[in-house]
This record gives sequence, structure tokens and C-alpha cells, in this order.
Amino acid sequence: MTYPVRELLEDPAVLARFMSSVDTTSDPNGCWLWTAGKGANGYGGFSINHKAYYVHRLAYEHWHGTIPKGPYKLYVCHECDVRHCVNPDHLWLGTSKHNAEDAAVKGRRPAKLTASDVREILASPNERGVDLAARYNVSKSTICRIRKNEVWQHVDRQPDQ
Ligand SMILES: [Zn+2]
Repeated sequence: MTYPVRELLEDPAVLARFMSSVDTTSDPNGCWLWTAGKGANGYGGFSINHKAYYVHRLAYEHWHGTIPKGPYKLYVCHECDVRHCVNPDHLWLGTSKHNAEDAAVKGRRPAKLTASDVREILASPNERGVDLAARYNVSKSTICRIRKNEVWQHVDRQPDQ
């Protein structure tokens, strides 16, 4: 997958095709639900010119701008924790740097999670990230990255993740 992808949805025909798979009205929390294909990880996928893209990343770039490249990898996280939501108001960028700053602001070292904590987090896909973050004393970014399999990859996960 190549980035940036911002220009892809600027084609009106592509945007119309994208939005035809988005349900913006039925979710009580305002989520824009992706109704087309989803991967085993629960994130929506969309093909443009035979290449597959994650729909939340397309939505983030289309409505908020290109995800900057920098020394820290950036993750598109869901405020609503609905993985197939593409409402730009529910999407935010999480960084590994943000984790460190968040910990510094709170005057503590980055929290240590145990493997069993991570398993419990992975076993709670329907809990809000903000609630799990509070329970385990870590940032929302950390919960987001665990769920995206960006950290703690060595902990046993479901085979399809
Ligand atoms: Zn949402």
C-alpha cells in the first residue's frame, strides 16, 4: 500500500463509489458505517485500480489531509472504536511519540503492560479504547496500536489477525 492516498477520493466517480458503501444515517453515535467488504481484522477495504486500501485511512486523508511522514509512524485510530467507521470526525492520528509524551505529561514512566493484560485487551473488542486505556493506565494510542497488531505482536492472537 502506498501513501499518500489523499488524491484517490478526489476523483468524483471514485468518491461516489466509495460513499455508495457508506451508511451515514443508521448509527446512533454518528458512525459512518462501511457496508462493503471488511478484512478479517474488521477494517473496511476498498479497491481503486486493483489496489486495496483501508477505508478509514482513505477517509482520514480525504477529509483531514495527507498523513504526514515523519520520524514517528502514524496510526489512524477510531475515537468510536468502530473499526469499519469512516466518519472523519471519529478518526484521529495516534503516534508512538504521543505515547511517550502522554506518559511524560502525567509524570510517570510509560506504563508496563503484561502479556496477560494484552490478551485481555484483545479479548475485549467491544470495549471502548478510552475505557481500556484508563483501566490499564496506558494511552489510547497504546490500545489502538495493540488492536492494530503494531505492538505486542508476540502475544498469541486469533489466527486471522
Ligand atoms: Zn465512528
